[in-house]
Amino acid sequence: TAVPEIMLNNGVRIPQLGFGVFQIPPDETRDAVATALEVGYRHIDTAQMYRNEKGVGEAIRDSGIPRDEIFVTSKLSNAFHARDAALASFDRSLEALGFDQLDLFLVHWPLATVSDYVETWKAMEEIYASGRARAIGVSNFQPHHLRRLHTETTVVPAVNQVEIHPYLVQDELRAFDTEHEIATEAWSPLAQGLVLDDPVIVQIAKDHDRTPAQVVLRWHLQRGEIVFPKSVTRARVEENLALFDFELSDGDVAAITALDRGQRTGADPDTFDWIP
Ligand code: NAD
Repeated sequence: TAVPEIMLNNGVRIPQLGFGVFQIPPDETRDAVATALEVGYRHIDTAQMYRNEKGVGEAIRDSGIPRDEIFVTSKLSNAFHARDAALASFDRSLEALGFDQLDLFLVHWPLATVSDYVETWKAMEEIYASGRARAIGVSNFQPHHLRRLHTETTVVPAVNQVEIHPYLVQDELRAFDTEHEIATEAWSPLAQGLVLDDPVIVQIAKDHDRTPAQVVLRWHLQRGEIVFPKSVTRARVEENLALFDFELSDGDVAAITALDRGQRTGADPDTFDWIP
């Protein structure tokens, strides 16, 4: 398995395929991440709100794999958008993970209706300047949020992590990111399984003698997105990494993109205001 790397706008390299740990219970995370590392994943996507950073750190330490060979992302909780709270919560993330440095730290949600994400981003810039995060970025930001960061702050986010799958292809947002040298990461790349029974996807999978999940993940990779599917089932964890010995045609990619129906499986970034 040779997972390609994407170069972020500050020169840091990220494996294009990783392993997501949303909804993995804290006491199961260490085993799930250990399996992913054994299978060959070298990029883990966690968050303060998942409450499982500790298990991620333990699995990485136990694996014996050098820390600098594994790319780890975490995300600022919605509860800590104010400057001082953001800085303190970043320290707690490093402590939970047992790391001196995080590879990528993201603002999880803009929360524009309840807090000032520009203040939050300035705190992220301080964290970046301290050298303890190799890159900083955002998640669930719409173009209008990114435009404000662009005019009012200094560091351009390295990534924007947003919901993308065949039923929500987000081509306008992707184009905006690209234009501003922001890499796009696709969360819920399989729409949590919702798209796997789609007849178009099932047919393309048959044509390539692959599974629907592999076809959907391959579609993301060929569109240049960074993905980190989640599974706690070893066979699926393996299947989701076996993507580098086949290729979809341009016609396959276009047919999957045409399935877009603007359907979110998660929250709407413009109205989401949940604080844990
Ligand atoms: P996903 O699209 O990766 O789907 C995961 C589910 O799909 C699994 O629980 C399983 O039921 C099924 N599945 C996985 N592999 C399969 C396979 N090979 N065959 C059949 N079914 C399979 O959904 P996700 O976990 O929501 O998203 C992935 C990651 O994205 C998360 O773990 C997290 O890291 C990130 N994420 C971020 C945000 C955000 O707001 N930034 C939100 C949601 C998810």
